[in-house]
Amino acid sequence: MNRGPERVAASAACAGAKADKLKAAVAAVNHQSLTRLTTALGRSGGRLLRLALEVAYPPTCVLCGAPGWGELDLCQGCLADLPGLAPSCGHCARPLAQGMPDGAICGQCQHRPPPYDRCLACFRYQGLVRKLMGDFKFRQRLALARLFGQLLAETARWESESCLPEQLVPVPLHPSRLRQRGYNQSLEVARVLGRALGVDVESQLVERVIATPPQLGLAREARLVNVRDAFRLRHPVTAGHLAIIDDVVTTGATVGELARLLKAAGARRVDVWAIARTG
Ligand SMILES: [Zn+2]
Ligand SMILES: [Zn+2]
Repeated sequence: MNRGPERVAASAACAGAKADKLKAAVAAVNHQSLTRLTTALGRSGGRLLRLALEVAYPPTCVLCGAPGWGELDLCQGCLADLPGLAPSCGHCARPLAQGMPDGAICGQCQHRPPPYDRCLACFRYQGLVRKLMGDFKFRQRLALARLFGQLLAETARWESESCLPEQLVPVPLHPSRLRQRGYNQSLEVARVLGRALGVDVESQLVERVIATPPQLGLAREARLVNVRDAFRLRHPVTAGHLAIIDDVVTTGATVGELARLLKAAGARRVDVWAIARTG
């Protein structure tokens, strides 16, 4: 790790050129959610640059091996290929039908609002995003935590800069699943995210006391039953505003159960931040 003064000065000098490059790229990309993300990257290029100085490996595209775009482990072309989420619900982040305004509240949330306050996600869970998340979660490709943490940090800055949470709470794995996998993918992302945003990661606040079977493939009602009472607090909640960190939000049953627990323990606001959201 080298953070000598010359390298820091060099990073400041490149920030202007970087912003121009990013702005030009934003103009070339005709996709709403990607435009939001890339504009956010332009605004905070300096911060991402500092983040990159903290790690020993140069940014390299995880999909094609080309040099990364800015400090991301993705090149500009591959980033443009990833499935965006907009337009999506302003409460649960579920994709809305094309033509709906981004941020409108979906019928399901109007009818039965979820227990969390707001869900943010970077991408739609399909195609290349689905493949990368499978590599990260099931095939030990742990280096992807850096990319996912960076992307989620930029999305969160862009969407909620004036209202960042006091603590990040990664969804815990049951000890038996943790032993099997060797790592908790949500915690790995939360660590990168916490460093990038300057927000504490609270990985010991909740534990998973029931080893629930995987949620994928279950119907909504079955998922709700599946996760009921799955979590337990290990100590009192001290923060008023928390963000739950998850890799993929599907029906929202797991993060909903966790949000309910945190709110019952006194949290005023509980958001959910995820890499991807299913439709
Ligand atoms: Zn690439
Ligand atoms: Zn909704």
